[in-house]
Amino acid sequence: MSIGVAVLGSTGSIGRSTLQVLARQRERFRVVAITGHSNRDLLAQQAAEWKPAFVGLVNGGKGDEGRGKGTACLVEAATHPDVTIVVNGIVGAAGLEATLAALRAGKRVALANKETLVMAGELVAQAAREGGGEIVPVDSEHSAVLQCLAGRRTELARLILTASGGPFRTWGPERVSRATVAEALKHPTWTMGKKITVDSATLVNKALEVIEAHFLFTVPYEQVDVVIHPQSVIHGFVEFVDGSVLAQVGFPTMELPILYALTYPERVPDQGVRRFDPVAAGTLTFEAVQPDRFPAYVTGREAARVGGTAPARFNAANEVAVQLFLDERITFGRIAEIIDRVTEDARHDGDANSLDAVLAADTEARRLAREAACS
Ligand code: NAD
Ligand code: MG
Repeated sequence: MSIGVAVLGSTGSIGRSTLQVLARQRERFRVVAITGHSNRDLLAQQAAEWKPAFVGLVNGGKGDEGRGKGTACLVEAATHPDVTIVVNGIVGAAGLEATLAALRAGKRVALANKETLVMAGELVAQAAREGGGEIVPVDSEHSAVLQCLAGRRTELARLILTASGGPFRTWGPERVSRATVAEALKHPTWTMGKKITVDSATLVNKALEVIEAHFLFTVPYEQVDVVIHPQSVIHGFVEFVDGSVLAQVGFPTMELPILYALTYPERVPDQGVRRFDPVAAGTLTFEAVQPDRFPAYVTGREAARVGGTAPARFNAANEVAVQLFLDERITFGRIAEIIDRVTEDARHDGDANSLDAVLAADTEARRLAREAACS
């Protein structure tokens, strides 16, 4: 019997890569449910090819409306009785309820939707405990860590996540602050959705990933370091208590971490991606993160340190600011400024131990971000 998979956000970059992997693994897996947001044509095409039992179109319109409309169809797909693994490839806060519901229903969530863990890491962990579900990361850095750790959690000393540094790594701050949307979307090593591509240019993506790592591996923030590695060949390092360090290596592709999240802890034969060749990979370089170049990364790490609802507020402010930038309503430089304005207001920080508290923090931060954008 093949394993039933739900692909949330099947029309997106992660969703399409997932279907590509599944197309090579038809004996092991079958697609039971797919969901899309507004790309009706592609969703119909995928439905015709895969004939899933459930097809959901959120179709809530464009922009940063986040959760609300259409979440029912995401939850329905995520909790479908024939589904064993839910690949969550939704972008942003909209993916939260489906993750919680899947975990409560005892499913494995192969999680690309990192915003979910950042907003509500404690609640997600609780849902997994209560329902017997588990989270397996799809994010390449966290997949690297999972693979290097190999269950030796108690012997972990430090994680080092790599970051490409994005398109503006070598630009001066003045020039970066005026960068256009087209320039921000030109990622040097990865092809991804627009939101995460902008997050890679601000390095917000790496701040989100530090928080993601904290919740996934229950590791204190002081033990999560980040290094710039422009070639994106080493995806992450794990340092153990004896000082030994393991790294996971490969040409950049999301198909390997997706496949691993589906088959974990096993590995299965697959010929879909280019085999690694150290000579072709060439010189690998590493640089420290320059805080003045990536102010939003610094703000994100600070939100992580504060904890509670601060990461949810950081995430919400970023989602609003990135959408405003993509709509060409603010400059690139204002993304970091808006996030900073929203998160520095410590009055709004509180515990993140209930869904109501998290959603209230999210809503309030979105309001403050829009307000900050207008002033
Ligand atoms: P994308 O924009 O290409 O796709 C997003 C998907 O989410 C689409 O299928 C869309 O239909 C759906 N969606 C968007 N808004 C929605 C809403 N309000 N309700 C329901 N569905 C909605 O994005 P992506 O690059 O595939 O990224 C998806 C997630 O994976 C993000 O959290 C991102 O950070 C993470 N991720 C992506 C990559 C990558 O290589 N693309 C790598 C690591 C992590
Ligand atoms: Mg990543």
